[in-house]
Amino acid sequence: MDIVKGNMGWIEVVVGPMFSGKSEELIRRLRRAEIARQRVQIFKPIIDQRYSTNGIVSHSGLELASDLVRTAEDILVKVEPRTEVVGIDEGQFLGEGLLDVCTKMADLGKRVIVTGLDTDFMGRPFEPMPRLLAIAEEITKLLAICVRCGNPAVHTQRLVASEELIVVGAGGMYEARCRRCFEPQLATQKIEEGKKAAAAHS
Ligand code: ADP
Ligand code: ZN
Repeated sequence: MDIVKGNMGWIEVVVGPMFSGKSEELIRRLRRAEIARQRVQIFKPIIDQRYSTNGIVSHSGLELASDLVRTAEDILVKVEPRTEVVGIDEGQFLGEGLLDVCTKMADLGKRVIVTGLDTDFMGRPFEPMPRLLAIAEEITKLLAICVRCGNPAVHTQRLVASEELIVVGAGGMYEARCRRCFEPQLATQKIEEGKKAAAAHS
């Protein structure tokens, strides 16, 4: 965002599938804000402990210290009045309250940067990110590379058998797929196959 006058706040959202570089992009923006000597606070949901207990970590190994929160409302409690830039990773795990919380902080004059998955393992909109996109000043959609064919990948393919919306994991549990190679029913099919195998054994 440029040509911002006074201390007006705003909301930036970065979305895309897993492995599209959302965390890398968030870390890049926050590092630049720190270089500009702005006061930065970084939050991520407690649910995502894929590589470390706290700290945003990208799949390529970049890391930035962060505060763990359970819900979006926790961010309002922890954010300090003098903070100028607020970074939030994995916004899809923070619930509907995220919209209000981001709006309040932007109204207070803060630059709020949120990343998250915009679609789930079935390719469906993953709330609250789609609604956050609607109220943001600036949005960025990133794509990964399809591991099957090398085309730009918009989807997060779940490789394990589960119909739960949230199954946290990275290595081996998910991969990036383009719209042609995406198999939304794969996780459900694996459950059926598991049941049939169990029935055959009994
Ligand atoms: P996200 O936060 O969107 O899950 P990250 O920022 O954590 O993404 O990781 C992006 C990095 O993941 C890339 O720079 C690359 O090193 C690595 N990577 C692994 N698999 C893929 C893939 N299929 N497509 C693109 N990048 C990938
Ligand atoms: Zn493909």
